[in-house]
Amino acid sequence: MIKGNKLANKNSFLNSSDISEISLLGLTDYKSEEKENSIGETYHKTITPREKGTISRQTCPRNCHDTCSILSEVKDGRITHITGDPTNPITAGGLCVKMNHYLSWVYHADRVLYPMKRVGAKGEGKFEQITWEEALDTIAIKTKESIDKYGPETVLKYYFSGTLGFVHNKGLPHAFFNKLGASELDITVCSATGAATVPHTYGVNKGVDPEEFANTKLYISWGVNEATTNVHSVKFIKQCKENGGKVVVINPIRTGVATFADMFIQIKPGTDAALALGIINYIIENDLQDQAYIDAYTIGYNELKIAVKEYTLEKTSEITGITIEQIETFAKMYGTIKPSILRMGNGMQRNSNGGSIIRAITLLPPLVGTLGVASNSGYFYGSSGYRAPDAGPLTGKELLENPNRRIINMNELGKALTGVLDTTKELPITTLMVFNSNPMAITQHGKLVREGLARQDLFTVVAEIFKTDTADYADILLPATTFFECEDVHQDYFGWYVRHNTPAIEPLGECKSNSEIFNAIAKKMGYTEPIFDMTDTEAVKVCLQSEAILAQGITYDMLKEKGWIKLNIEASFKDKKFLTPSGKVEFYSESLKSAGLHPVAEYVPTAESNDGSPELFKKYPLTLMTPHTKNLINSQMYNVPQIKNLMGEPVVYIHTDDARERGIVDGDKVNVLNDRGNIILVAKVTSTITKKGTLLSFSCPWPKLVEGGKSVNEITSDRVSDMGGGSTYHTNLVEVTK
Ligand code: SF4
Repeated sequence: MIKGNKLANKNSFLNSSDISEISLLGLTDYKSEEKENSIGETYHKTITPREKGTISRQTCPRNCHDTCSILSEVKDGRITHITGDPTNPITAGGLCVKMNHYLSWVYHADRVLYPMKRVGAKGEGKFEQITWEEALDTIAIKTKESIDKYGPETVLKYYFSGTLGFVHNKGLPHAFFNKLGASELDITVCSATGAATVPHTYGVNKGVDPEEFANTKLYISWGVNEATTNVHSVKFIKQCKENGGKVVVINPIRTGVATFADMFIQIKPGTDAALALGIINYIIENDLQDQAYIDAYTIGYNELKIAVKEYTLEKTSEITGITIEQIETFAKMYGTIKPSILRMGNGMQRNSNGGSIIRAITLLPPLVGTLGVASNSGYFYGSSGYRAPDAGPLTGKELLENPNRRIINMNELGKALTGVLDTTKELPITTLMVFNSNPMAITQHGKLVREGLARQDLFTVVAEIFKTDTADYADILLPATTFFECEDVHQDYFGWYVRHNTPAIEPLGECKSNSEIFNAIAKKMGYTEPIFDMTDTEAVKVCLQSEAILAQGITYDMLKEKGWIKLNIEASFKDKKFLTPSGKVEFYSESLKSAGLHPVAEYVPTAESNDGSPELFKKYPLTLMTPHTKNLINSQMYNVPQIKNLMGEPVVYIHTDDARERGIVDGDKVNVLNDRGNIILVAKVTSTITKKGTLLSFSCPWPKLVEGGKSVNEITSDRVSDMGGGSTYHTNLVEVTK
């Protein structure tokens, strides 16, 4: 820790003119059409800690691209101020609106501070305090009973991204589950579709350094809302414009970046593959492809030419709802302006046809020869693909006796808990252990999840900071620390940084970190392996013993002292080595064909759409998208009063024409329904945010804190995507009634 460290008040994140410009991106007032022309972020004023007190360094561990470096000031054992680290190029002194309320979260009156056992009905949320000893005894006895009856795979761990730390998310808790032999959870809810698809084109995912957005000549934002989910990237995109570059946004939603983009292409949801193929066809027909690059570094160009021929401007326009003029203009830009960076977001892949979409888009950079030719050229998808710390040695893989244990796709939790899933029909899940997540809020088809959690024969353990919707169903509720109370190590999936998290304060009450909790359960189960004695500090050091970290010359002490270090990574595909079967970029892919997709690419309608399910469309003619709001990361912190106030009542954006047809006016309470269920939302009538036929409602409020006890995931689809078993949060047909 740095005692009395004087922090420069650089406020280097944004200057005042930037702030006023960016603040236009926020939706703070719905009265004026001008002010509601985008969905964007509102920056919070940077607060610099005073010089008194002890300053320590943390890393925001949310499932957020930015992975901000935080400075916190502690006096008398209590955090008094937090701010973004002004010296880190991405954080640059500012946290986002989501996280400026961290203190209200850490010191919230509703923190779970002691182990508890349920004394009310499942879901009622009534608990009574017990000792750690009683909690651990109960867990061990009940778990052993389940295993005796059904075997270890009857136990399911469920976790997601309450923290993405290498120790407390990817690391030590899994040693317990591996030793036990529990069913594995397939982490598919976020970007599994893209992760499974991109390698079929390039061999591996290796995007550009996102700080290079500032230095490219054409930045394309495709299916991402940077101003809400990656707020610190906006400054790089603005710099691109200031440097004379062009910015294009492709999205069904008018995003924050769209307000200053040179072109905004408002596409019909789920039709992105058709647009990509139409652009490719135009580029080839107009001889704008980079033939020398194609000849040297790709295979399957002839097959590509044949596959895209049917995607004429007319057909592409008809499928995507975009004008021919816009398609043509953008295709010309992409074929001629170089260097360019094409950013593929997570949005469009969360569809039943997400793999087809990502595949089609990945064909664009090699077609125009932008891949691997310069640091400011190519594509960006999720992360550099370069993982430096390694949590592998913390997971106790060697303790796992059955490598073929059952795997449950997290998108199908409701089906798994209710025995609908084939793999759970004969071998039910009878013990569920949840950490780092509130699945009742974030999982699709909420009705099934609720039914599953309410099963009387299900023993549920939840390690949590608050009594979430899921915690209300727990038999045993364990008090978990926040990241201000435990040590960890992180790597961004946006920037090229590795970051340390120092505990700022002692754990509140009787809270324990995830690793301490599962180590304690392991010991109570009678497991004696040394890994269950490992401390958090030792675990961080183990993660930093990876080949990549050692090669970078990074030590624990260096990282702890500075808080973050930028990784030295070679520009993506500089060596033009593509780890595909052919060693080249594959426009034609046999491996893709084996995986069940078109070997080149094609447009496949989503499973819930006019083209994909005409009968369902007659009943439910509106497409519901459920992206993230600027105010929340998944469901985290929804119970913090400032966040809940910012969110207001859950809303649904509905186009003026759709509203008029249904007699709905702005502010009406409406019923949004499909065969999976219904929810009550407040209508926000718009002519700009979405197009006719598309609705938007933000995820994921806590169901128990909204009217009717149901939030938007009550009606989202729990089918999985065409590649990687990914989520399909945007593949929903619904109707809206007053
Ligand atoms: S949620 Fe993201 S932008 Fe906000 S403080 Fe955390 S890492 Fe930074």
